[in-house]
This record gives sequence, structure tokens and C-alpha cells, in this order.
Amino acid sequence: MPIYTYKTTEQGCEYCREGFDELQSMNASALTTCPRCGGAVKRIPAAVRGMVNRLSNSNLRDHGFTKLENRGDGTFEKMT
Ligand SMILES: [Zn+2]
Repeated sequence: MPIYTYKTTEQGCEYCREGFDELQSMNASALTTCPRCGGAVKRIPAAVRGMVNRLSNSNLRDHGFTKLENRGDGTFEKMT
């Protein structure tokens, strides 16, 4: 069964504001409301979901202000 990602289109609650994954069968109809707060949610296409993930805080932290690049001889060069 595919996993769909939903995100609120309104203020929502803690759960749907960050987006949540829902395991659904192929022919199940898309959710329209958050199971926790009942606010409106929309399904996020997989491609868009990837974009959202790239902008997440943890990813920004991973690619933060200091980037070290391996120069190949065992030393690292600070790239920023
Ligand atoms: Zn909610």
C-alpha cells in the first residue's frame, strides 16, 4: 500500500502543520480532514514532498554554515 503525505491548508494542529503520512490502499479516497483536529488537509504529491523535505530544519542544519570538503589527501577544506 502506498503512503500518502498530507498537510494542512489551514492553521491546523501540531500534527498536520508539519505534515503527516497516511498508509492507504490505492483505491481509498484521499483524506480531506486531519484525523486529530478535523482541519482541512490536502494530499501532497511525492515530488513536492521531496521539496518540502529539502527545506526542513534538519536538512538545513546538515548543510549549515560550515561545510568541510574532503580534498582527497586526508585533509579537509573549509568551503564557507
Ligand atoms: Zn490537525
